[in-house]
Amino acid sequence: ISTSFIIISVLSHFTSSIGLRPWPDVLPNELQSLDIASRLRVDPDATRMASRDFGKLVHPPNPAAVLYPSSIEDIASLVKFSYNRSSPFSIAARGQGHSLRGQAMAPHGVVVEMRSLNNCSRGSGIRVTKNPISGSYADAGGEQLWIDVLQATLKHGLAPVSWTDYLYLTIGGTLSNAGISGQTFRHGPQISNVYEMDVLTGKGELVTCSKDTNSELFFAVLGGLGQFGIIIRARIALKPAPKRVKWIQMLYDDFSTFSRDQEHLISINGLDYLEGSLLMQNSSPNNWRSSFSPSEYPRISSLISKNGIIYCLEVVKYYDELTSHTVDEELQELLKGLNFLPGFVFTKDVSLVDFLNRVHSEELNLRAKGLWDVPHPWLNLFVPGSRISDFNSGVFRDILPKINQTTGTFLVYPVIRNKWDDRTSAVIPDEDIFYTVGLLHSSGADDWEPLENQNKEILKFCDKAGIKIKRYLSRYTTKKDWMNHFGPKWRTFEDRKAQFDPKMILSPGQQIFNSV
Ligand code: FAD
Repeated sequence: ISTSFIIISVLSHFTSSIGLRPWPDVLPNELQSLDIASRLRVDPDATRMASRDFGKLVHPPNPAAVLYPSSIEDIASLVKFSYNRSSPFSIAARGQGHSLRGQAMAPHGVVVEMRSLNNCSRGSGIRVTKNPISGSYADAGGEQLWIDVLQATLKHGLAPVSWTDYLYLTIGGTLSNAGISGQTFRHGPQISNVYEMDVLTGKGELVTCSKDTNSELFFAVLGGLGQFGIIIRARIALKPAPKRVKWIQMLYDDFSTFSRDQEHLISINGLDYLEGSLLMQNSSPNNWRSSFSPSEYPRISSLISKNGIIYCLEVVKYYDELTSHTVDEELQELLKGLNFLPGFVFTKDVSLVDFLNRVHSEELNLRAKGLWDVPHPWLNLFVPGSRISDFNSGVFRDILPKINQTTGTFLVYPVIRNKWDDRTSAVIPDEDIFYTVGLLHSSGADDWEPLENQNKEILKFCDKAGIKIKRYLSRYTTKKDWMNHFGPKWRTFEDRKAQFDPKMILSPGQQIFNSV
């Protein structure tokens, strides 16, 4: 008895440590005979982890299994296996899981932990090609983080031109949305700065695509919410990297003056970055957007108390050794004639990396206080430029202050439509200039619902006022809402799905083709 007990214990320890037992009913047994079986985990630790995300707002059922690929072939073999079955299972690539509403999850399906490729030599990695004549680029695996792309390219004196505010996101994750930040007005979103990709389609075929080759797949995948294929490699445009930045913030008490100055600045050449944010009562000027020195807080806080809301315009000009003696003069020229509040202009001089990676310091701060891993009922919108003033009165001035809790960051800045390629799957308003608005709330574990209700009130307000917003990073739960979201692009989106993922295997967490 004792010998068989020992054998059973050892066996069960062995099988549970490699995650093979108990095999979930929803997955075909034959999957266990594939090479990848030892890299599939079905234990609750793995499946629970894969059904969490940054939003902490939705809790769909766990996936049946999680694949930790050790090569691109592992992922291809999983997708092919599912595709060749009469009843395929769903598969979601998961980057950092920094989505908000379960977009990277696969209830009862298989989640592919893309980051696992980073730890093996058979992923795409990051390779830099320097070519001053035809254009330098980085070939980066879909699983790579933007911070690592930055570090790798800087070694060659190069860097991508279009960023997100936060760099611990994967290439595959941001290219599936758009990837926007203060450089977007000038260079377009990240999806406008990709030359080529290797994509594993929903049929398990690895296809190289670009604007000229397999272009339908290329444009489908960019902004495609993971619906058409898994991004295995992306070739990202690089330019010579500046060394330092002049980082300036200016305060306004009047929205139309603020937005007029923003729109003026994006219409002229010269700045490298432009964003804007709200400083509201009960919010501290010491948030991750700010470059204010602590000695300025009292002065700024009293300005906010007096006005309720203050608008902060944030710009950056890059420079290096060659331009260090002219940068201040150039900036002065660029900012001439702006109408910010006299005396409320703040300048910092920091390295490029410190600037681009600014949110990470705040992440470390919030993590130390236990305030990072909390629910994030964010609302991200694109608002047509012609209605931004109505949005300010109805939302910033009226709805937002109703909740006496303004922890979070509120962004508002204009971008230019013609820097976006309409052939991609990304959806934006139909106006030359539109504003990106990010209401980036964080909340306690139990008090996110009032903020979610406020988000609904904002959407209702826009609908009633006829402000034709488009949602960014959002997830709808009905097909009708997705069709409205895509508008005239829906037919193309649907056709592309039929072409590249006909069995509707990929990214079920977006709830586009599996919604009611
Ligand atoms: P995940 O959440 O893991 O996945 C997102 C979607 O992409 C899922 O549908 C998933 O299936 C799919 N996917 C993942 N990898 C691949 C792949 N290789 N191929 C195909 N599909 C894939 N966004 C901005 O645009 N600008 C910002 O400034 C910005 N700042 C942010 C700051 C923070 C703190 C956070 C948490 C998010 C921010 N975001 C921003 C949003 C972010 O870009 C998206 O949520 C992005 O999807 C996150 O990347 P991820 O690697 O975590 O993707």
